[in-house]
Amino acid sequence: MPTDSAKKIQFTTCLNKAHGKSRKAELVRRNEPEQKQRYCGHPGTTPQRGRRRDRRPYSLITDLLIIMFLVSTICMTGCFLSRNHNSGLPTRYRANSEQLEIRSDAKIEKEGEIFEELVSLRDEIVELLELPPANRPVRIYLFQDEERYVQYMTTSHPELPQRRAFFIGTPTELSVYAYMGPSMMEDLRHEYTHGVLHASLRTVPLWLDEGIAEYFEIRRYDSLRRHPEHAPKLAIAVANGWEPNLRRLEQIERVSQMQRPDYQEAWAWVHYLVHECPDGRSLLADYCQSLAASNRAPGFSPLIEQQVPNAEQRLMGYVTSTLDSGRTVQVSGNR
Ligand SMILES: [Zn+2]
Repeated sequence: MPTDSAKKIQFTTCLNKAHGKSRKAELVRRNEPEQKQRYCGHPGTTPQRGRRRDRRPYSLITDLLIIMFLVSTICMTGCFLSRNHNSGLPTRYRANSEQLEIRSDAKIEKEGEIFEELVSLRDEIVELLELPPANRPVRIYLFQDEERYVQYMTTSHPELPQRRAFFIGTPTELSVYAYMGPSMMEDLRHEYTHGVLHASLRTVPLWLDEGIAEYFEIRRYDSLRRHPEHAPKLAIAVANGWEPNLRRLEQIERVSQMQRPDYQEAWAWVHYLVHECPDGRSLLADYCQSLAASNRAPGFSPLIEQQVPNAEQRLMGYVTSTLDSGRTVQVSGNR
């Protein structure tokens, strides 16, 4: 049983790609209760009663000193505010449409490539999984560079590990934090996929959340949408005796427990269901309907065991015969 304090904020931190490249992570705060702000008055601010201070007339020198002090204070405050602005959230440019808002340091246009790709991605996710309409907006904060991003994240979320991008979900916000750089679109696609799922569904099991995000982080270069990293690594793993185990994968509830091979397996299950398994896509879509209706995710493994006998063996065959067919995914653009 978790303690009361542990219950207050339950973090599910995505240590995605924590091994090796350490490229991104998300934080999903679930079951966060209403938090009331509480102020603690510093003793020094307590009005002093019962004491009177003798007031002495100000001299000219005193006035000058006060003026000098005020001027220097204003300068210092100005510098401080300026520094705060530089370490704050991107607010200079905004573009929004249908539950997607991007706030950015650099100019972002609704008709621009980034916005259009994310809208297209959202439409693809919604169509594939037949998601119900989103009931919450997703906001993306796009910093102009890594330095700005790191400065903000370390200041505002010191509890989080250093990662290239984050998704943060709370009962009051679904936000993506990322910066402009060579991997921007991959990061945005992965994190925004989490946002799209959580905007429509009441809960998402961790394995499926990550499997779908890994699936969609890759642009559709061919009809199979193979992941250039996962597909060959899984084939090697199978050759070395690895076997998938969905029941085991489903038991992982904390992102800190999820290892890189688990992300690969999650991706493989989603890929298999979408591209190979008979009625697999419908199975996923139906399951998402149940996730939209309940805060408690039912197990997925009993469903697939009922519908697809020997699913694990079939997935292994799919990995070796199709995903590792020798054809490489053409990677270009922002990757
Ligand atoms: Zn993720």
